[in-house]
Amino acid sequence: MKIIRSLTFKLVLSCLFIILISFGFVAVFLERNLEENMQEEIKTLLVSQAGLLANQLLPRSLLHEDVRRLEDFVVQQSAQAGCRITVVSKQGKVLADSEKRVKQIAEMESHFDRPEIRSALSGAIGVEARYSLTLKKNMLYVAVPLKDQEQVLGAVRLAVPLTQVERNLNITRKTVVSGGLIALGLVFFLGLYFITRTIRPINHMIQVSRRLSEGDFSCRVIPVSHDEISELALTLNTMAHHIEDKIKELNTRNQQLAAIFNSMGEGVVVTDKAGRILAINPAIERIFGIAGRDVAGRPFLEAIRNNEIAEIIGAVLREGESVSREICLVLPVRKTFQMNAAPIFEGEVINGCLAVIHDITEIKRLETMRRDFVANVSHELKTPLTTIKGFVETLLGGALEDRKNNRAFLKIIQSHAERLHTLVNDLLSLAHLESKEFASRLERNNLRYWADTALADARPQWQKKSLTVKNELPPEFFVLADKDNLYQVFSNLIENAIKFNRDNGTVIIFCQDLTSQVKVCVEDTGIGIPEKDLPRIFERFYRVDKARSRQLGGTGLGLSIVKHIVEKHQGRVGVESTEDFGSRFWFTLPKA
Ligand code: ADP
Repeated sequence: MKIIRSLTFKLVLSCLFIILISFGFVAVFLERNLEENMQEEIKTLLVSQAGLLANQLLPRSLLHEDVRRLEDFVVQQSAQAGCRITVVSKQGKVLADSEKRVKQIAEMESHFDRPEIRSALSGAIGVEARYSLTLKKNMLYVAVPLKDQEQVLGAVRLAVPLTQVERNLNITRKTVVSGGLIALGLVFFLGLYFITRTIRPINHMIQVSRRLSEGDFSCRVIPVSHDEISELALTLNTMAHHIEDKIKELNTRNQQLAAIFNSMGEGVVVTDKAGRILAINPAIERIFGIAGRDVAGRPFLEAIRNNEIAEIIGAVLREGESVSREICLVLPVRKTFQMNAAPIFEGEVINGCLAVIHDITEIKRLETMRRDFVANVSHELKTPLTTIKGFVETLLGGALEDRKNNRAFLKIIQSHAERLHTLVNDLLSLAHLESKEFASRLERNNLRYWADTALADARPQWQKKSLTVKNELPPEFFVLADKDNLYQVFSNLIENAIKFNRDNGTVIIFCQDLTSQVKVCVEDTGIGIPEKDLPRIFERFYRVDKARSRQLGGTGLGLSIVKHIVEKHQGRVGVESTEDFGSRFWFTLPKA
């Protein structure tokens, strides 16, 4: 079947067909021509022979119907001419026939109605070719009139069988047919040879293009000639070369895009026009806790169970317009995302959707923190400022002259100014710690020395409360820290341990040696911290009892400053506390 459909077979068949048709035409024309020519030749010969015979026949023999004489004549002439000779009277009666004896002639029917005889009797030459029932052969009849002066006395007819013509035609036919067969054979084998040679490079090109279609763009056609086929081969090579270059370029671009896609912090989802997932990036896998290969090809809502996102994608696919919206995710963890979804067009038709999901939880948290911070700072500043303003107005309004109270008023103004000063100092410390320019001067510092310094500075406070203060830190223990920062950490923690202690309580400072760090603890026997407040205790402005803290001169920033400093030193902070029993604040620092 494959052979029948092959180009070689079709071309060979076409050649054979052309040869067959050509030979057919040649045979038909040749036969017709030959037949006509031969008959014409025989006819001319017979006409001249008949003319000669007519001249030799004596009109008398005809007039007297001297059949004996006529018979002798026709038999003799027939032997010489090699054809049948018949003599017919004016009435069409056969008078003599070279093939029949006298007795038989009498039984012969009239020949008057034979076309050639009729023509001859009318004075013209009659020619007719037909099948003779008497002789059972195809015969050519030529009859000429026998005249005496201008009077037609009868006719002499010469007849030859056309078997010779047919024999000659048969020979010609056989020659043509055998020539045709030889030509067909030659055409078949030679055609097969030449066509196969011509087709070979085409087959080679088919193999090459098949390999190209399978993605092997390195293969090339080797042109073997300088004809149109080689030109086609060269074009194929150029095309393969271009495709190879383009594929390489596309691969590189794809790799770059894949690298961007995979390393993006934002989650990316690409869907088709039916909302089925085509691709997701690792960020999406992380956000929703899914694997890319499990969700590919599945409807979005089935793969990622989030109605809000599915609705946005649906709207984008329906309306063909970009959507930007903030969405909240509760599971697996509570998070806020900014989602931007845009349609993917193919020409004018929407063919899919590209959704980019950006995690803004941290931004939101920082925004809230900033807002809270500003609100807290304003609130913290407002109370002392209002108090100061109020008392200044009171003093100016006449209380300045009130000798009994004016000093008390000024003392209140001083204490609130002091509070403002502490607050601003703490805020500046925080701002300084948070600024990028801040760099701690790390040096080898004696831990116990700075704890002692902070304790000494707080002496009036702890003595006022009759506290027992113990510094159990080893005398020669060094840490890698900024000395001002180290002092501030001790100072803040010791101040708190004193402030929130009871009278006659205890404050102990001790340490635990960890591998590369040291854990320093400041323990008190104070009021302790309720368990619910522990996780937030290091936040800015967070205080268990706001009024009490303010009364004690606290700003609510001390512990957050401690946390900042320790973390800047690659350390950690923590607290363990039992309400009504006391607290243990600890921090770690690198050993020097
Ligand atoms: P403040 O200026 O109010 O002391 P801090 O940031 O130092 O601010 O402390 C925050 C809050 O933590 C305090 O208001 C207090 O409620 C609580 N706290 C801190 N240290 C102790 C402690 N040693 N014992 C009990 N509560 C404490």
